[in-house]
Amino acid sequence: MGTSYFMTEELNMFRTSVDDFVKANILPNFNQWEKDGKVDRKLFKQAAELGLLGINIDPKYGGMGLSDMFSLVMMEQSNRHNVAGAVLSLCCHSYLPMQYLHKFASEEIKQKYLVPSVNGDIVGCLGMTEPFAGSDLAALRTTAIKDGDHYIVNGSKTFITNGVYADYMVTAVKTDPENARAGVSLLVIDAKSAGYTASKLDKLGVRSSDTAEIAMLNVKVPVTNLIGKEGQGFLYMMKSLEIERFSIAWACIGGCMGVMDLTLKYIQEREAFGKPISKIQVIRHKLVELQTEIEMCRAFMYLSTQRFANGENTVKEATMLKLKAAELLKTVSDECLQFFGGYGFMEEFPIARVYRDQRVNPIYGGTSEIMKEILSKMIVDGVKY
Ligand SMILES: Cc1cc2nc3c(=O)[nH]c(=O)nc-3n(C[C@H](O)[C@H](O)[C@H](O)COP(=O)(O)OP(=O)(O)OC[C@H]3O[C@@H](n4cnc5c(N)ncnc54)[C@H](O)[C@@H]3O)c2cc1C
Repeated sequence: MGTSYFMTEELNMFRTSVDDFVKANILPNFNQWEKDGKVDRKLFKQAAELGLLGINIDPKYGGMGLSDMFSLVMMEQSNRHNVAGAVLSLCCHSYLPMQYLHKFASEEIKQKYLVPSVNGDIVGCLGMTEPFAGSDLAALRTTAIKDGDHYIVNGSKTFITNGVYADYMVTAVKTDPENARAGVSLLVIDAKSAGYTASKLDKLGVRSSDTAEIAMLNVKVPVTNLIGKEGQGFLYMMKSLEIERFSIAWACIGGCMGVMDLTLKYIQEREAFGKPISKIQVIRHKLVELQTEIEMCRAFMYLSTQRFANGENTVKEATMLKLKAAELLKTVSDECLQFFGGYGFMEEFPIARVYRDQRVNPIYGGTSEIMKEILSKMIVDGVKY
């Protein structure tokens, strides 16, 4: 990879350790996990041993306290191996619930949930989406009504990554059901609580990541499990969207690079009309077009991640990247699959799996349409976030 404007020697060394981690712990087991519909739980512990679950977390909570350029490298390089389900399992633990705990939770919550999360002893999930509230999160219906020193929570969440595995869920609830945004608060709910059940969902791709529907019936949650202040949940969500969007983009660009690796190798090996298909001009031209787009998007990703890591407001850039990187991986996996001919349609060829796995990127973490809505507000209407 070499050093460059963004890739310091330290980041390069880190990239090598991520590579070694994936080769040793994910690749040998990945096909089995895809069949099982979940990764082995020990993967979290193995990642934690290398510090990979707490890259940007303060060392006083066990993290590495590194810049998010390291997070970028972690996500990009691991997903370059075309193991999206495993990468999603890890990142929906460390870049979703843990970030809320790190930024907004009390010291007591941090000690109870964040520290063991960094250590890989417990797994977290983020429960925002509900059966009737996805893009329109303010429409969420789960209620948390105060009763003495507890909240009584009723409602359900759906499509929750790590939902079955999770020991706890950071979730958005209405503490004031009469209010839309101003009524939203965030709670940490222990998955062992009475009345809390998780049911596994079957899905098209990223099959090794567990996805669940969570039902909560009169779940008693201590008031000390409130994250930050009551009524501020929506604000905390808005403040956390940048890293969520970046993390999806980091994985998508790694995915694009992974698809190009597979394709460049295959077209050298496959022959048609007495020569490798890599000599066919239409294929060569399409591949260089795709590579050009990937490299341009990647440069923008490095630049804006560096600015994000410096503490600048990068809501616009994170939104553009989430939109573009997700759509680019969709195009790259579709166009490249074509060059595999019938083999591209066969399960034993990783490109077939990537084609299914990538489809979720323009949907989760905010759909492409929602990214365009946000960008329209910022660019056309001059709204600032
Ligand atoms: C595999 C997977 C994992 C997920 N993991 C999690 C997780 O860990 N935690 C979590 O909370 N959620 C998770 N999600 C949920 C995900 O974030 C939502 O599915 C997503 O935000 C879209 O919400 P929805 O499914 O309700 O779609 P809807 O909001 O019902 O949207 C349906 C369609 O309408 C379009 N639409 C809606 N509003 C507008 C508008 N104003 N303008 C234009 N078009 C619009 C959408 O773009 C979409 O095409 C996951 C989803 C999947 C598939």
